[in-house]
Amino acid sequence: MKCFSCDGQALSPLPFYYEWNARRFVLSRCPRCGMISLDPPPTTAEIVEFYSEEYFASGLHGLDRLGADYESVADTGLDASVRFLERVVLAAHPQPHSLFEIGAAMGHLLAAGNTLGLACGGIEISPEAAMRARAKFGIELERGRIEDLDTAAHRGRWDVIYAGDVLEHLQDPAVAVSKAVEMLAPGGVLVVRLPSTFDLLSSRLAGLVLPPLGRALKLPDKPYHLHEFTHRSATKLFQRFFDDVEVDSSLIPPWKLNLKSGSTAYRIKAILHWVNFPVTLIAGRCGDRLVIRARTPCSPQMFEV
Ligand SMILES: [Zn+2]
Repeated sequence: MKCFSCDGQALSPLPFYYEWNARRFVLSRCPRCGMISLDPPPTTAEIVEFYSEEYFASGLHGLDRLGADYESVADTGLDASVRFLERVVLAAHPQPHSLFEIGAAMGHLLAAGNTLGLACGGIEISPEAAMRARAKFGIELERGRIEDLDTAAHRGRWDVIYAGDVLEHLQDPAVAVSKAVEMLAPGGVLVVRLPSTFDLLSSRLAGLVLPPLGRALKLPDKPYHLHEFTHRSATKLFQRFFDDVEVDSSLIPPWKLNLKSGSTAYRIKAILHWVNFPVTLIAGRCGDRLVIRARTPCSPQMFEV
């Protein structure tokens, strides 16, 4: 399998895998750009099945284990959504008037955008979630995959495009980024949040230690993440499309970790987290979250002679 991001290198298997539908999906890394992707990738039919109603009801990143569903958690956080929008997303643009969200789910963030007076639009793959967005907030989302979106009606229109925890779920994130480039207004900014679990010191250590022991780690859950980004691989991907790219790496403080699991591997991970935290704080690397802000030139003519 070839790397979707730098287009050309055969991927090397890592000692991590998912098992689902009686199939094994091995996390594999591109030696050139460091992008990690599932090999083989799930089929389109399997991906559509991932985002059935059940995804938002129970399967969303362990919310079921907390006894909560996506909608009830999101409903309690509308004020927080407004603060998040202002602090993380809109601050990247000097004077934003419009916001488009890739993977808008039930429209909670766009509803927050509406309260701030922004013109809002979005796209969502789950028909159930898109119907909830219309019923709850009167927000009419485009339905389907961003990779298939006809951008004619959106070309050069949006000041800010946001994708939170979305790109890692897509079959080809590079196509999604190229769509966003078409849709951004001059001076527009694409803001992307991603997990970067494989940047962590504990993940790097596991990647080094497991192969000589002949071991591989089975990851829990369905293979929702088709790709895993690191600071390096995300930077390389966005620099293909934008000249102005900022990538911030952060890590949850160790004292805020949920220490419910009693497994030895988890305890080792928790100890390494105390070493990892100052590294991320000082060097801005090796965190488990990335925020990317990628800007288009203010005027399309600025590079013309
Ligand atoms: Zn690559």
